[in-house]
Amino acid sequence: MPDAGLIVPTFAEPHAHLDRAFSTAVTGWNRSGSLDEAVERFLGSIDRMTVEALSPGGRRALDLLYDAGVGHVRTHTAVGGPLEFRAWEAVEKAAASVPGVEVRQVAMPISANLDAREVAACIREAAARGAVAVGGAPWRADDPVSATRAAALLAAELGIGLDLHVDETDDPAHNTLAVLAAAVTDAGLTGRATAHHCCSLARRPESVARAEAEALAAAGVAVVVCPVSNLCLQGRSCGARGLAPIGWLRDAGVLIGIGLDNIRDVVVSVGTADPLRAAWLMAIAGHLTGEDDLEWLGRTVTAGNRRICNLPEDVDEGGTDDLLMIEAASLAEAVALVPPRQRLVG
Ligand SMILES: [Zn+2]
Repeated sequence: MPDAGLIVPTFAEPHAHLDRAFSTAVTGWNRSGSLDEAVERFLGSIDRMTVEALSPGGRRALDLLYDAGVGHVRTHTAVGGPLEFRAWEAVEKAAASVPGVEVRQVAMPISANLDAREVAACIREAAARGAVAVGGAPWRADDPVSATRAAALLAAELGIGLDLHVDETDDPAHNTLAVLAAAVTDAGLTGRATAHHCCSLARRPESVARAEAEALAAAGVAVVVCPVSNLCLQGRSCGARGLAPIGWLRDAGVLIGIGLDNIRDVVVSVGTADPLRAAWLMAIAGHLTGEDDLEWLGRTVTAGNRRICNLPEDVDEGGTDDLLMIEAASLAEAVALVPPRQRLVG
């Protein structure tokens, strides 16, 4: 053990998909690398998605997350339709086998139409099974405005959070952020809603995007940026990169998290279970390489992610005893070098 290092709480991961990690034996690989092909392959493989087929991949991902120092995972689990709750139960089974990582599931209906009665019923059942948030991708719905509003109202009714995949595309015309901000405010969900991805925000004019970022901040909507998946999936035809405009979001005062998203699944064939590796990639891809920027990325991945997962941010706050020592002199160095780390307890 090194003499000294940074002591931080174990990492909290705000955006995983344990239900599909390492599951390409079931789905096949994504040949085009596009989100559309991933969705098509996923939906075409549902008959083969059993608890037995999906849980080993979740367990492998959890083992890797544990080794990286992650103590808490918020994972988006596909539910409903012909899949029913088999993926949910697979995640429960995987979580039971890795007790060093606390797992919380977000209900992500396979239908994007969150305003449909049967989809709402499925989310209600997920809430009864312990879902911590209403998830899903209403920006892909037949009526994105209606689906986004319905999701916020349902989260408020159920007394859980709202964790939506939002505008995960490089097409600037897909824009549900203003609708989301208003829906969150109207539903009384301020501080309990998170918009994940928000890729198309970067493709709109700066003045427009900054105003949208300010609306998110005012509504208390956090944003989770997923550099690995969005650099892989978006921008393949237009040449832009898929990242949300993290600088503009930061300037607006939005609470930001960094998510790992997919690990070797039908959506993205690469992946990492290490939050510091994701922050390192964000530093390079987002031109956040100043020392202050690196320090900020380190705070985002150590504290911001915990806040988004409703955990105490600091070592002292809440008396957490699940600590990590990172072999680095500063948070900036931890992001820059992605060094080894050890769990002190847990
Ligand atoms: Zn996702």
